[in-house]
Amino acid sequence: MSHFTHHHGQLHAEGAALAAIAQQYGTPTYVYSKAALLGNFDAYADACAGREALVCYAMKANSNLAILDLLARRGAGFDIVSGGELLRVVAAGGDPRKVIFSGVGKSEAEMRLALSHDILCFNVESIPELHRLNRVAGEMGITAPVSLRVNPNVDAKTHPYIATGLKANKFGVAFDDALATYRAAAALPHLRLEGIDCHIGSQLLDDAPLLEALDKLIELIDTLGAEGIVLRHLDIGGGIGINYGEAGEAPPVAVGDYLGRLFARIDAWRAASHAGAPIKVVFEPGRSIVGDTGVLLTRVEYLKPGAEKNFCVVDAAMNDLMRPALYQAWMDVQPVRPRAGAALVYDVVGPVCESGDWLARGRALAVQEGDLLAVMAAGAYGLTMSSNYNTRGRAAEVIVDGAAVHLVRQREQPADLFALESLIK
Ligand SMILES: *Cc1c(COP(=O)(O)O)cnc(C)c1O
Repeated sequence: MSHFTHHHGQLHAEGAALAAIAQQYGTPTYVYSKAALLGNFDAYADACAGREALVCYAMKANSNLAILDLLARRGAGFDIVSGGELLRVVAAGGDPRKVIFSGVGKSEAEMRLALSHDILCFNVESIPELHRLNRVAGEMGITAPVSLRVNPNVDAKTHPYIATGLKANKFGVAFDDALATYRAAAALPHLRLEGIDCHIGSQLLDDAPLLEALDKLIELIDTLGAEGIVLRHLDIGGGIGINYGEAGEAPPVAVGDYLGRLFARIDAWRAASHAGAPIKVVFEPGRSIVGDTGVLLTRVEYLKPGAEKNFCVVDAAMNDLMRPALYQAWMDVQPVRPRAGAALVYDVVGPVCESGDWLARGRALAVQEGDLLAVMAAGAYGLTMSSNYNTRGRAAEVIVDGAAVHLVRQREQPADLFALESLIK
């Protein structure tokens, strides 16, 4: 069910009119629905009920403290990719012992920070990283919990910038090297081998590649077990896609169906060769938790008709929402108060000085200067990827709960943007 619908001729987030939000908080503003967020998380939690499983929300998709707090209170763990993200979990009241630390470039300082917070597991991506983690944990007089991120070499069939499970990607340990890497890790005294993980890509509209990756992980767990390296947890990563509303787009897999198929395979495997002993299953979803829970609200500054193209210049730009510029991503754009009358075809562009600064291309819109537009399904990889290019403050963020609207991030002001700079003396 969508929590963004038209009533009385205008678009609402739950019970709050987007026009009223724009009036109060200005534009551009990210608007999130609390009910949508909790509904998405519950789809995972419900499918995991009664099992040894943990949903670690991949917070790089959207790391606003209010969102982390809502999910933490629902029992979520977190998948982090930096020390800064760990400090966000702590600031939001999340439990560091439910944190998984992913990423190819963990610094020594980040390892110390994570170890001092007793996180659940490090998803290690290379042999040099194993050695560094072993040394840091040894210096602290403790052992570090480790899972190896294995690259199963399956084609996630998604955009090349968000495919991560192929041999040509920088992520993970190659499948063929995994055995040797586990043996090397097992010989390091300050590491504790807990599990195995993979993350093959993002925006997957089909779970077949994920189930193929699962089969490869199962094969490795059994090979390792035969050598006495017994793994306790299996982390399949994130990657489930959402619909952005583009014509002809395949529908996404339902989270409950995907988890049902995955658990059925795991149960059959454990029953056949592990006397039914359970294994802890970890998920790292990002986009499928937050993607469809938010819109970017923006106002039309100018209409600029041209010989070849018409431009609709809005006050949001590539610095606010980078996905179109970075991935040529297609995002749906809806008028907040649809007008009767003839539509014209526009490119919806921002004020930033780059030709790559567009949010949508070739859209039929009946709009006038001053109208509000909503870029739909902008809850994931929106604000977190934003920048201050052109000395533009980041957008405000609000969460709607029924008819109530809560400001959860103030709009950045220009003075905030140069507060850390100084003149040479
Ligand atoms: C980005 C990322 C995720 C989340 O991916 P989604 O496609 O947003 O679900 C999960 N795990 C790792 C390691 C990631 O880098």
